[in-house]
Amino acid sequence: MSTKRTLIAGNWKMNLNTAQASLLLHRLQERIKIHKNIEVVLIPSALTLQPLSVQLDRRKFRLGAQNAYYKDDGAFTGEVSFTMLRDLVHYAVIGHSERRLYFNENNDLIRDKVAACVRNEITPILCVGETKHERRAGETKRVLHSQISTALSNLTAHEIGEMVIAYEPVWAISTFGGELAKPAQAQEAMDYIRKQIRDLHGKKAADNVRVLYGGSVDDQTARGYMEILGCDGVLVGGASLNYHKFSEIVRSAYAMRHEVEDE
Ligand code: PEP
Repeated sequence: MSTKRTLIAGNWKMNLNTAQASLLLHRLQERIKIHKNIEVVLIPSALTLQPLSVQLDRRKFRLGAQNAYYKDDGAFTGEVSFTMLRDLVHYAVIGHSERRLYFNENNDLIRDKVAACVRNEITPILCVGETKHERRAGETKRVLHSQISTALSNLTAHEIGEMVIAYEPVWAISTFGGELAKPAQAQEAMDYIRKQIRDLHGKKAADNVRVLYGGSVDDQTARGYMEILGCDGVLVGGASLNYHKFSEIVRSAYAMRHEVEDE
């Protein structure tokens, strides 16, 4: 765990209507306490961002978007832009493996979305990670390198330092099999990500960028990942829909911060 603000993000994916989302937020607000060094980010569907923003205790939570289009406005039927979201959310997930695989998002599109996100003063949570096939073929670093170098190619070193990168091996995401990554595997990839940022954009960007782990993280496994040196938090999918599990994950982060801060 690092000394930066720990980020615990819950990606609700395409689940929960407005009433259900409101109830989940209510349950989380009852259980989650304010902590100056922990940021809890809820990432519901675009439809529920507005009502949740009214209900939300801003001392405890921030909102994130799951996706948006890279153009700011215009004739793009069915899309929502980062410009429309800029007053609603602090964060946006970009390049999630479900979008890469189900919606054919490639690295160039993801680069344009990252740039649009930054242009609209929303912090990108860029998701990167290899498939099982790529890992078996020994291509993990090559895949991470091409995902990261393309996605960040239009940003300054300062902008990169302000953003978040989530290492999410596709094979560890519940949607695609949910095989648990060993913390050592996660650490190796996360170290590589930071090294790549250092090599391409300098030490300051590498030191400042927050790197998360994501892939079937739940209340039982979160601590093991958050203990990885240089891990700044976790991106949680399925378990974020369960208020017991998600608030337990946040509680583990609290406990770890207190252990570090009390030393
Ligand atoms: C995710 O959606 O980013 C994710 C990691 O999902 P899950 O925790 O369900 O594997």
